[in-house]
Order: sequence, then C-alpha cells, then structure tokens
Amino acid sequence: MTLSNYHTHTCYCDGKDRPEELVREAIRLGCPELGFSGHSHVSFDDCCMTVAGTEQYKSEICRLREQYRDQIRIRLGVEQDYFGDLPTDDYEYVIGSVHYVPKEDHMLSVDLSASDFDAAVATLYGGDVYAFAEEYYALVGRIYEKTECNIVGHFDLITKFNEGNCRFDTSHPRYRKAAGEALEALLAAPVIFEINTGAIARGYRRTPYPENWILQELIAHKAPLLLSSDCHDKRFLLCELEKYRDLPGILERLES
Ligand SMILES: [Zn+2]
Ligand SMILES: [Zn+2]
Repeated sequence: MTLSNYHTHTCYCDGKDRPEELVREAIRLGCPELGFSGHSHVSFDDCCMTVAGTEQYKSEICRLREQYRDQIRIRLGVEQDYFGDLPTDDYEYVIGSVHYVPKEDHMLSVDLSASDFDAAVATLYGGDVYAFAEEYYALVGRIYEKTECNIVGHFDLITKFNEGNCRFDTSHPRYRKAAGEALEALLAAPVIFEINTGAIARGYRRTPYPENWILQELIAHKAPLLLSSDCHDKRFLLCELEKYRDLPGILERLES
C-alpha cells in the first residue's frame, strides 16, 4: 500500500508551507494522492482561512491539480469546524472537526495550549475536567449532522495535552460514557474515522488519535479508517503513518 494524506494544512490557514511545496514533497515521497483540507472560516478564529483566502485557496488547489495531474492526484477538501460558517459545496470531501466548546460567553479552544486548557477547566468548569469532556463529546457526536462530513477529524482531540493521562483519566466512567455516546452516534453515520498522527508530529502525543480503546471499538464495528498526518509542516507529511497501515479497516484511498 502506498501512502497518501488527505488532511493537509497550508499557509492559507495555520500550516507552514505553500500548497505547491506540499505537492512537490508528496511527489518526492511517492504519494499517489494528496488531499488539502484548509481550516474552514470560523468568525472568532484567527488560525483559519479568511473569507477571501478561502476563494484563493480553492483556485490555487484547482490550478495545481491541473498542473501536476500527470504526477499526482490532488484533491480539494476542507476541515470544516463545527462552527464553520461557509458552505462546503465546492469541496471533494469534508473533514468534520470540533476545535471549540462554547461556555458562557467564551468559545474555548480544545487544542490551543495546555495552559489555556487548564485555565478553562479551572475558571469555567470549577475544576471539573470531565464536564469539559462531556460538552466536547456532545458536539463531536453531532459533527456529522452539523457538517455532513465524510471524515471525522481527530475524534478525541481533547486528549491532546493528556499524554500519560496527566490531566484526566480516560478510563473514568464519565469520560467513557461521553466518548462512547459520541462514538455510537457517529458509527450510525456514513463516515470514515481518522487515525491522526498530528499530535505526534508536534510532540504532544506518542500515539495517534484516537487512543487505543476507541480504536479497538472502531475495529470491532468494522468502521472505515483513514490514515492522516494532519500536516502543518511538509517535513511531517506522512508522519508515522506507515506504523498503522496494516490496521483492519484502513482505506488505501479516499473514494471519489
Ligand atoms: Zn483539526
Ligand atoms: Zn487539521
């Protein structure tokens, strides 16, 4: 199986590289396909694509698709946030992701930094991290109906800063119940789940999203899985994906 990646960010959002640099790297690595998935516009988010930038992104990816069509198949996708506010009709596929949880008059970032995470739990949840997890997974469980995504992005992103269960216990009954309900809802939807190594590339985790007990549930339910590097830097375009290529349910390509 030759590896492709469909979760790729560029300088149109918070990625480091121009799209063409990523195309050239994917060709160098022998990828049959490369899918771009810029962060959808979200009104309160500084790291996403702007409204004007979204149009430029779409036209640049389409131009590169033609320019490199003899060397690689380029796919135009988007990572549509739960609170994304632009339509997704122009994209070949949609990754649906939860990056924010609304709380009182704040939009809490799930993955911005460990200190922001801790401050949110302390000040807005009275130290009850499981309440934060419950509200996060309530949104995750609705990501298909909200975005009509083809792919669920980083199912348990809330564990980004929890390596070694340093902030909460993912075997806690409240955590298992919240994650389990979201999983059950999404297993009933026509979606693919990511095996996402993005936090490994950035040094936060040693294993991909989702963690093992969730992965085993997905495998037990014969859910389709897609390897994804959540690339923000071309040096990590296929970050550790080869380690997981033989898992049951892994799709070699994203269908048209
Ligand atoms: Zn994401
Ligand atoms: Zn992403």
